Amino acid sequence: MGSGQVTDWQGKNVTVAGLGVSGIPAAKVLHGLGAKITVVNDGDDARARAQAAELEALGITVRLGDGATLPEGTDLIVTAPGWKPDKPLFTAARAAGVPVWGDVELAWRLRGPDAAPWLAVTGTNGKTTTVQMLASILKAAGLRTAAVGNIGVSLLDAVLGEEQYDVLAVELSSYQLHWAPSLRAHSAAVLNLAPDHLDWHGSMEAYAADKGRIYEGNRVACVYNVADKATEDLVREADVEEGCRAIGFTLGTPAPSQLGVVEGVLVDRAFVENRQKNAQELAEVTDVNPPAPHNVANALAAAALARAYGVPPQAVRDGLRAFTPDAHRIAHVADVDGVAYIDDSKATNTHAAEASLAAYESIVWIAGGLAKGAVFEELVTKSAGRLRGVVLIGADRGLIREALARHAPEVPVVDLDRTDTGAMLAAVQEARRLAQPGDTVLLAPACASMDMFVNYNQRGDVFAEAVRELGAGA
Ligand code: ADP
Repeated sequence: MGSGQVTDWQGKNVTVAGLGVSGIPAAKVLHGLGAKITVVNDGDDARARAQAAELEALGITVRLGDGATLPEGTDLIVTAPGWKPDKPLFTAARAAGVPVWGDVELAWRLRGPDAAPWLAVTGTNGKTTTVQMLASILKAAGLRTAAVGNIGVSLLDAVLGEEQYDVLAVELSSYQLHWAPSLRAHSAAVLNLAPDHLDWHGSMEAYAADKGRIYEGNRVACVYNVADKATEDLVREADVEEGCRAIGFTLGTPAPSQLGVVEGVLVDRAFVENRQKNAQELAEVTDVNPPAPHNVANALAAAALARAYGVPPQAVRDGLRAFTPDAHRIAHVADVDGVAYIDDSKATNTHAAEASLAAYESIVWIAGGLAKGAVFEELVTKSAGRLRGVVLIGADRGLIREALARHAPEVPVVDLDRTDTGAMLAAVQEARRLAQPGDTVLLAPACASMDMFVNYNQRGDVFAEAVRELGAGA
């Protein structure tokens, strides 16, 4: 299994690691190409058994309850992206010289010779939004495209399906990049880098290195965040095609080879004639939905990738105007008594919450949940000046309370000391009490939701319901 396209799968012994959203289709596709498939899976529950039975009916071997042993004669492992690199299966593979591909690598290798190029996006936060903005811009330019990858649309389907694409807008997670050694995007962006998933990668360096793989072999542009030096360092370290350019995006005035903002206008000083002197207007900041600073940064990254692909300025504006964000990402729920209620339940880590808090002047902040090992010192220090008050909920709220006591002792804090789902209504009522006209009540928990809710979607829905109750009773 070298680094090129594999054209003959007949008789190849492929071990698929993990029965799941990527494993099952991978097993079926490779089986269809003539490979001999063994699926290995750690779990052995009723669901796994039902899935195994379905695959076995096709003639695929499945081993349940043993994801650690490398099956005899394996030529290649195709793994679910979430499987940790230090698992015994991979140690055995390394010792035996067996390559390991993730779902992205598999899709990359199976795409046809005239396949659509990939415009790829990664980063700690903002990936989904940016990829959706990018797809919207590409569509506005009349291109056949889709937002695919980590966003929940399988790359394998996109690459092998009936639908013809001109270009793909691809969201990649750090896990997927770890397992995608030969991926070569047309152009790629790393939006930002903050500590996340460090237990999986082993260290911040390893996490950054995996994110940085997205730039390897880029042909036209490596897009980085001027405000986040770590992303620029990754560009410098990448081995790219001759002539590939480093393109920065900034919320400030852009230097040559950058996209940025001048007096409320998104401008391009990278993909223009004579960039020392000229700049091209792309869109107004108000064309970005919502026009919060971090989201304008996402729009600039999307615009940079689209421009690298040759999209005209007008399509950037039209695409941004046509874009609506997914639910629970800085969603305006309602105004009650002159106070805006905003649902950013998707702010599940401190980096995301920091961006969210930076978007408003005077905030009653609803926070808390599962901290996943995070520390809140920096977030609280940077946001202290904007806080009218704080309402805390959830299992790890004590960590936030302590950080507030240390760095923002003057800010009133209501600690609800509750982890039941109904606590959200009480939180919203407390927030209303603290808020004054012109303020924003912001749900940006900086934590995961599973201590109190099924997921961040439910957390946001319950918040919105509580706000509506407030409005109805007002
Ligand atoms: P991802 O796909 O990387 O999880 P999303 O686009 O779904 O990113 O946004 C997740 C959350 O991250 C948002 O709700 C917002 O709070 C925050 N966020 C979005 N873009 C950025 C950014 N550029 N920098 C920091 N935080 C961001």
